[in-house]
Amino acid sequence: MEHHDWFKKSIPLIASENITSPAVDEACASDFSHRYAEGWSGQRVYAGCTYIDQIEDICMELAKEYYKCIHADVRPVSGVVANLVMYNAFTSDNNGKMCCMSIVRGGHISHGPRFAKSGREIYGTAGTTRGINVEYLAFDNDEMNLDIDASAKIIREFEPELVLFGGSVFLFPHPVKELGEVAKEVGAYVGYDAAHVSGLIGSGYFQDPLREGADAMTMSTHKTLPGPQHGTLVSNREDLIDTLRSCAFPALLSNHHLHNVAGLAITFAEMLEFGKDYHKNVIENAKALGQALHERGLKVLMEHKGFTESHQIVVDITEFEKTIGLGGDIERLLEKANIIINRNLLPYDISQGRHYQNPGGLRIGTSEITRLGMGKSEMVDIAELIKKLVIDKESPNKIKDEVIDFRKEFQEIHYCFQKSSKAYEYLKFY
Ligand SMILES: *Cc1c(COP(=O)(O)O)cnc(C)c1O
Repeated sequence: MEHHDWFKKSIPLIASENITSPAVDEACASDFSHRYAEGWSGQRVYAGCTYIDQIEDICMELAKEYYKCIHADVRPVSGVVANLVMYNAFTSDNNGKMCCMSIVRGGHISHGPRFAKSGREIYGTAGTTRGINVEYLAFDNDEMNLDIDASAKIIREFEPELVLFGGSVFLFPHPVKELGEVAKEVGAYVGYDAAHVSGLIGSGYFQDPLREGADAMTMSTHKTLPGPQHGTLVSNREDLIDTLRSCAFPALLSNHHLHNVAGLAITFAEMLEFGKDYHKNVIENAKALGQALHERGLKVLMEHKGFTESHQIVVDITEFEKTIGLGGDIERLLEKANIIINRNLLPYDISQGRHYQNPGGLRIGTSEITRLGMGKSEMVDIAELIKKLVIDKESPNKIKDEVIDFRKEFQEIHYCFQKSSKAYEYLKFY
């Protein structure tokens, strides 16, 4: 209760989060959450799956329609599990080799090498890629993107089995086409981790990895795609479907959280209907928020490129080190005022001696506030609230009252079906 109440009075700006519609909530709270269904639809090893199979089939069909592809596996229970399925399919059991984004420059912990040298830059290891030797692609800090020439050289020298694109700090489309060709030269598969940008891609923005050369694309279903917490893997490679399927089950899944599959089916239906409009606004809001913060004196990265092409912006807050502190301190200050944001490493943090626990950046996302119905003028309001806290040093208690007041008008979920409408057809299955 207290958490719900608090979030209804807050400005949620975490780039990896979103909010589900009432129809999705209903599906996720249904009896499906008590059931088991192992394996592929129609080939289950449990009884009682009649309707579960129907909704999973619908979910796969809608995913294929949204991503314009021939294979969708909606069973991975999270983005990380979808990545593991891809690693399983595309790399050798022992001493597999992968090239991907460095974690400290925006890669995800599930790209984290256990043994790679550069992985020790921060954690030592996350261990998800246990058994895979990881070599990081080169990154251009000034462009906040992969450096094509230097990365091509790394791929040619390292000869990986998998080249993986995508990341958690993800402002601009990755050069999948250019580096994918180099990957093919050395016989590597091309993977794309769309955890953050899966909604943008499905709705036709950002980039189109499956048509730019990716053999498989993995995702979380709850970041820009506003669904329940889950994962999905899609592909257009007919010849790889069996492998991809069997690398998921019985390898990495048993039951696969059927209530979330039901909720995800509704999410895909919602996005096929409203995604074009929703995600256009998500991206426009991100640019507008970047601009508004920039105009108020905050150091938003990538002004020369319009700040972003995605749902996120990154702010360098190192100038506040002596007054407020770094990312962790600013995160706590904003939280006191009901502004929920997350700290993030800047690509140059580690080389400048900052630690991931208290990095020099903030990552701000507009997926959730857009779904709550906010537009460009609210981006200016939010920038103003943030400025009052970090630049004017106004008291967080005072700003908190302003935030609560501001949020009052934004309590409904937008870009979803109303109770009386079409999506509720899907609910007949449970
Ligand atoms: C969030 C994220 C994941 C993991 O997603 P979960 O659904 O939390 O398991 C994987 N890759 C990237 C790039 C991410 O940002």
